Amino acid sequence: MKNIIFFGPPGAGKGTQAKLISEYLNLPHLSTGDILRAKITQKDKLALKLKKILASGKLVSDDILNEIVSEKILNYCNDGFILDGYPRTLEQANFINNLFKINSIKLNYIFEIEIEFAILKNRILQRSKEENRDDDNLKVIQTRYDEYLKSTKLVSKKFNINHSNIFYKIDGSKQINEITSKIKKILENSWFSSKTHDICTWLSP
Ligand code: AMP
Repeated sequence: MKNIIFFGPPGAGKGTQAKLISEYLNLPHLSTGDILRAKITQKDKLALKLKKILASGKLVSDDILNEIVSEKILNYCNDGFILDGYPRTLEQANFINNLFKINSIKLNYIFEIEIEFAILKNRILQRSKEENRDDDNLKVIQTRYDEYLKSTKLVSKKFNINHSNIFYKIDGSKQINEITSKIKKILENSWFSSKTHDICTWLSP
């Protein structure tokens, strides 16, 4: 099993890299943003609620995300997974920690793609033209970035402290192919040492 988490602010390119690495390792790419966007197309009551939240740049409730991710991990990820966009809050991190603990799931790699706000602002605006996403405008970008700083950065900091031997910071200002090569190199160099880290240590001081 190979289990990987990608962290990074919105627009850092974590979705692109997670997808490329999932194809490279032949592992399911669990992008919670993609899963939520697919749910929105169902046009039921929940879809309408989700549409509003995503368009505002705020986070969807932990309960919904925890249910989505645990169902996918337990039913579709026998060989491992690439988590992209989750966990985003400490509540989600605690939930997934418990799930991993109960099911003896170990993490192998954590990548955090780092980038300055000015660069990612331009990138997201460019993406809004290409992908027609209604959460890609300046006001919403600021909200999404604030949510990242307020919640997700604290989660990645904790993972960094508790899993420092498998935590890799990646410069997100580089070209897409350079970033992919860097990640692949890390995977190749460290794979044979079979580094895994028990997520149960999350709760230790
Ligand atoms: P993303 O494509 O990962 O940038 O996610 C797009 C939007 O989906 C976010 O701005 C949130 O509204 C929602 N979302 C995705 N993942 C999560 C999560 N783990 N927790 C809460 N909301 C999420």
